Formats: sequence, structure tokens, C-alpha cells
Amino acid sequence: MRRSAALVALLTATTALVGGVEAGASPSRSKVPEAVGYGGAVASIDADATAIGISVLRRGGNAVDAAVATAAALGVTDPFSNGIGGGGFFVFYEARTGKVHTIDGRETTPMAATETLFQENGAPIPFAEGVTSGLSVGVPGTPRTWQRALQLWGRKSLKEVMKPAEQLARNGFEVDETFRTQIANNAARFAAFPSTRELYLPGGQPPVTGTKFRNPDMADTYRELADTNLKSLYHGRIGKDIVRTVQQPPKDPASTLIVRPGKLAESDLARFDTPLREPSRTNYRGLDIYSMAPPSSGGTTVGEALNILEPTSVAKLSQADYLHYFLESTRLAFADRNRWVGDPAFGDVPTRELLSQRFADSRACLIDPKKALKSPVAPGDPRNPQACATVGQGVAAEVGSQHTTHLTTADMWGNVVSYTLTIESEGGNGIVVPGRGFLLNNELTDFNFAPLFPGVPDPNLPAAGKRPRSSMAPTIVLRHGKPYFATGSPGGASIITTVAQVITGRVDRGKSLVDAIAAPRASQRNAAAAQVEKEFLAQPETAELVKRGQGFSSAPAEIGAATGVERLPDGRWIAAAEPVRRGGGSAAVVLPFRW
Ligand code: GLU
Repeated sequence: MRRSAALVALLTATTALVGGVEAGASPSRSKVPEAVGYGGAVASIDADATAIGISVLRRGGNAVDAAVATAAALGVTDPFSNGIGGGGFFVFYEARTGKVHTIDGRETTPMAATETLFQENGAPIPFAEGVTSGLSVGVPGTPRTWQRALQLWGRKSLKEVMKPAEQLARNGFEVDETFRTQIANNAARFAAFPSTRELYLPGGQPPVTGTKFRNPDMADTYRELADTNLKSLYHGRIGKDIVRTVQQPPKDPASTLIVRPGKLAESDLARFDTPLREPSRTNYRGLDIYSMAPPSSGGTTVGEALNILEPTSVAKLSQADYLHYFLESTRLAFADRNRWVGDPAFGDVPTRELLSQRFADSRACLIDPKKALKSPVAPGDPRNPQACATVGQGVAAEVGSQHTTHLTTADMWGNVVSYTLTIESEGGNGIVVPGRGFLLNNELTDFNFAPLFPGVPDPNLPAAGKRPRSSMAPTIVLRHGKPYFATGSPGGASIITTVAQVITGRVDRGKSLVDAIAAPRASQRNAAAAQVEKEFLAQPETAELVKRGQGFSSAPAEIGAATGVERLPDGRWIAAAEPVRRGGGSAAVVLPFRW
């Protein structure tokens, strides 16, 4: 018997011993933010989803199978952050070849879209009216991402890995405070759509914490997707239902909410693809940092910030100096991201140049160790890096929403998946497809509604068949070509600062992965004030940072909700998740083992 086959047999035999989640079970498990052991690991924001991922690993699935199963379950229990109506980016380290692959599952505009998608009478419509609309719905990419990942690298079929989530939707799960609050936050707009209202506001109120929540329509949709191998969505009945919902938003006639229809067509679904893309790659302190390349700005912006920090011995800095440098590095990287990154199919995005050390050095030149830069800082020119030079005008990054989810998986063969997926806003566009049990995305609001500066090319304007710029940064860090750790986070544009902070926390500041994930957050995105959590402001270094001119604004309450895995030199995995944010995440390993 090969060693891996022996391990599968052992794991299957020990499932009963260590506790496993069988398909069909709907356990509400207690959750822990850190787990250590052998055989593979899963970290997500939700206990049921993590348990399902672990059960797939125990049945001989690999990290890819577990990632898809976990994502499918998150679509059930965390449906306001992600789901089959949305998109995402899947990053995979393949142990067999030592290569990192990525799948671009980003939602795409209808072919009927133009640069003025979000404009009326020559002016942008209010952002909120874009959010709850048919206009903002891009072709869902998540189901195709799952199929592609499984076909290329999985050991199990789509049917097998979607089954536990289907059963979770059918049998129900326990409503927790996060689930209830997310509905309460959206109650006004959810109430405007009978299909959303009936599902999420039974009796006019969000479901009560501790009660069981079932979504039989979603269970049936999952089954139909799996049975038809997605045909029903991209070429069939589910697709028709999506298109009808976008073109004629099913609003309660009594509601006064303004809900514009969109032009998504069945032909848009049929032509949708999930391209494999070269990952972004940066070397930081001898480690290879792989992440998502454009159309996400995640990889280039995290990478540029790290490159800006590279010449500085961050490990040796005082905490105040570290935080000052960290804030300055993302401030500068965001100035460049806002100017240069968009869908590479629609313009020449200087991905390689943004990630060059020479360019980063030309930007780091602007940092004063004792004085914060004044934002918005103007971008540099990555194609022609000149020390301390800037071009044109700078602009702060969008505030963005805070709702997305990140999961991380690893298996006994050494494969790792880092996968961020979303429906954009909390609750997406607010519209449950009638009879189908899932919310649609409003991802197209990630485009700029109008050019940032008249006369300056803006790479992130809508166009037919284009993908909006993302900030998602599912990341895998290799040391000597082998997995060291992987991480990612939700949080709109603050994903980038969160991932950069986790990486510097782990690599430079001697924190464990779970402590790096838990650390108080600051997100400086080329604005006068960085968004910070109140725990960040409570640190003793804050006064010193303010003295140096760092500005802080205290919204939102939480920034990000990262997860990760790490490989220990003895072959064990650490799974790590949020101890507190979003009600705490859930980390688990196949065979828990500590000494
Ligand atoms: N749509 C966002 C992006 O792609 C993610 C949404 C969020 O995290 O809130 O960057």
C-alpha cells in the first residue's frame, strides 16, 4: 500500500474515534480558532462549513475537494457573504508539481453593458441604488470555479462534494447571532422583495438566534446544479430564473425602493468562463508570496506593500515604527493600485512592473520615518520608476463593503487551497432568485461609476464582458518551494491591508498565525485617515503615531475575518481562524495532535 493510501485507510478508520461529520448530519459544533494535527486542515468562518470540509478530507478527498465542499456549505450558513450567485478567486498549491495555480471566477458584465452602466443623464447614480439593483449583477462565477477546480485537481465529483451542503440546507442549521444580525442590517431592503422576505424575514422578523434555519429551495438548487453538472445554471432553467430576476426585479409593488433592472442575458451566462491565470508572485524575506493577479488588485497591492517594506528590518523596529512603516507601505501601494489596476483583458495592466523591487524602492523613497505622508498621495509610474517621483493625481480607495468570506484548506499530500469568495455587499443585491433560495451578487458596483479624473485613463470603468477590479487576496506563502502558510480575508478594499498585516505579523513580528489573524487592524488606503478598530486605537503606540501625522477613523467596528493554515516542520498542520470577529471562525484538522 502506498503511504498516502495507508493514511487514507487510517483516517477513515479513525473517523469515529475523533468525531466526523457524516453527510446528512447538521451538527452545530463548538468552534475553536486554532487546531493542530496531521492529515489536513480546514479554516473558515463557520463551524458547520469547516466540519464538512474536514469530513471530505477524512473520506479521501484532497484540499480542492474540501475547499469546494466548505464553500458550498458557506453558501448555506453564510449566504450574505457568498454563494452560488457570486464569484471569487481560487488559489491552489499543487504538491505534485510544486506549482501554484489560480482560477479567476470573477463575475463579468453582460455584453449589453457600456462605460455608462451606472450613469443616468451623464451623472453617476447614487451608489446605494446601484447596490440593490439588477444593474449590478454580474454572471455568477462561483459554480464554474468549483467545477473547474474539481475537474483539474480534485479527487471527487461535484455531486459528492456538494451533497453535504445540500443536506445542510435541507435539514437546517442553528441560527447564530452573526446570521441574525446580517439579516437585521438588511431588513429594509430584504422586505422589498417577497422572495427574500419569505426566506429571511419569516413573520416579518429575522429568525431568532438558536432556532433552526432551513432553506429547501437552496437544497433543491444545489441538487439540480450537481445533477446537471451546472448546465441548468449556464445553459438552462436556473439560468433563465436568474435572467428573469435581473431583468424584472421581483419587487413588492407596494415598496417605494428604487430598483433598476439589468440587462444580463442567457447568452452572457453561456459565454462565461473561469480562466486560469498566472498567480502574482513576490519574494519577501526569502519567501515566495503567491496571490491573485488582475483583475484582482489583491496580489499586486499586497506584493507592492511588502516590497516597499523589504529593505527595512521590520523585525527589529519598535512597535510604533513598525505600524508607521506598515501604514505608509499600504498608503503608497494603494495610490498605485487605484491608478493602474483593472481587468487585464481591457488594458495593459503593468502587473510585473508593479511587483518589481525597483518600483517599490522608488516608492519607499517617499517614506519619512517620523512623518506620515499626506494623502491622497499621487501614484508612481511602474513602467518608468524614478526615485520619489509621482505622476498625476492621487485618490483614496473606496470604502467598500465588508462582506466576503475566505477559507483555507490543506491535505495530507501537502496540497493547499486559499479561496476568497463573495457576493460583494452584505446580502449581495438583496434579491433571492424566486424559488431558488440564493441571493444574487452586486459585484459590478466594484467598478468606478465614472472616471476618477477627467482625461486620465481609468482602468476600472465598466465595459461589455469586463470583470470589475477586486481586492481579494487569497495568498499562499512558500518557503524553499514548499507551503509555509496561506491566508486571506474578507473586507472589500481592506482585504489587502489585512493580508499584508497578517503576513508581516507572522513573518516579521514573531506572531503565531492565529495571533497575526487576531491582531488589532488598521487599514490605510491612501486616505487622510486610516480605518482602524477600537482595539488598534487602544494600543500604547497610537499617541506616537498621531504625533507623526497618522490619521485614524474608527469605523467600521471590525476589519476583516481572516483564516489560514500553516505547515509545521514535522508535517503537522495548524488551522487558524478569527477568535472574535464575525462571531469567531472555526479551525480544525483531520487528526488533532499536540505535544
Ligand atoms: N467585492 C469585493 C472585492 O472583490 C469584496 C467584497 C467585500 O469583501 O466586501 O474586492
